[in-house]
Amino acid sequence: MTSQSLLDGLVASARPLAAQGKPADYIPALARSDPGAIGAAVMHVDASLVVCGDARVPFSLQSVSKALALPYVIDSLGEEEVFSRVGKEPTGDPFNSIIRLEASRLKRPYNPMINAGAMVVTSLMPGATVEEKLGAFSRYAAPLLGVARLDLDQEIRDSEAATANRNRSIAWFLRDLGLLGAEVELTLDAYFGQCALLVDAVGLAHYGAVLARDGLEPGSGRRLMSPRAARVTKGLMQSCGLYDGSGEFCVEAGLPAKSGVGGGILASARNRLGIGTYGPALDIRGNSLAGVHIIAGLSKGLDLFCL
Ligand code: GLN
Repeated sequence: MTSQSLLDGLVASARPLAAQGKPADYIPALARSDPGAIGAAVMHVDASLVVCGDARVPFSLQSVSKALALPYVIDSLGEEEVFSRVGKEPTGDPFNSIIRLEASRLKRPYNPMINAGAMVVTSLMPGATVEEKLGAFSRYAAPLLGVARLDLDQEIRDSEAATANRNRSIAWFLRDLGLLGAEVELTLDAYFGQCALLVDAVGLAHYGAVLARDGLEPGSGRRLMSPRAARVTKGLMQSCGLYDGSGEFCVEAGLPAKSGVGGGILASARNRLGIGTYGPALDIRGNSLAGVHIIAGLSKGLDLFCL
């Protein structure tokens, strides 16, 4: 079991680190996040919870939504359909890179954890309108996050939509390659929407605990997602979940994890627990400085390394 003092100590030692980074500002609404905020939550597979700091402060999922959208589409359409359009390999490039779409032999996104691959996944979500797509996705994702419903931050959504020239370029390129399952504008609207869904560190810890048992609800043991979707998602989180910082994170923490530029990180330790962290001060790759520190510290302190 995770002790309160271990978590408190890691949050305290993360504070000076966070001062070395800053919130994402390429989405203007995110630049207003409090750079000093830090929260952490650990949920064990029996549903017992340990929290510290700003663990109940809401923030937008951003790229953590990729670790929810992927299993949703796998469970809705089947793995073959998804992976005929996107690969399973890391890139070593920034999350919003477009370069390999044209330059590589594959002519499809390398994995579903970078923006290009995530947009392909979003385009495959069932539904003819953005409301239908996001409504059904939210109904799948809410129990995984341990909440009754998911709310969307409209200001963050609009702020991203107004400034997303690079994501628009990626989406049009994907259309040119014939990889999108929906029109470009619908795909982008749904993608910005999933990124603007609000969560907190406790919710991420809950999902980490679900993944820890390959899809079973903490405590009750109720099945929330297929074991295969959980496995595939964790494999891609392990290899690609922290963008071009995935290799270093794997060395330090040895856990499947997924970060987002909203400041959240989700991690999962097999058969043991889930971790959720919040810290909007990011490193140059877009990963939460406090989050990486806290998860690596928990992994060492509790011997969570899966490697
Ligand atoms: N919505 C963000 C984007 O597409 C998500 C990126 C991230 O969290 N790394 O740029």
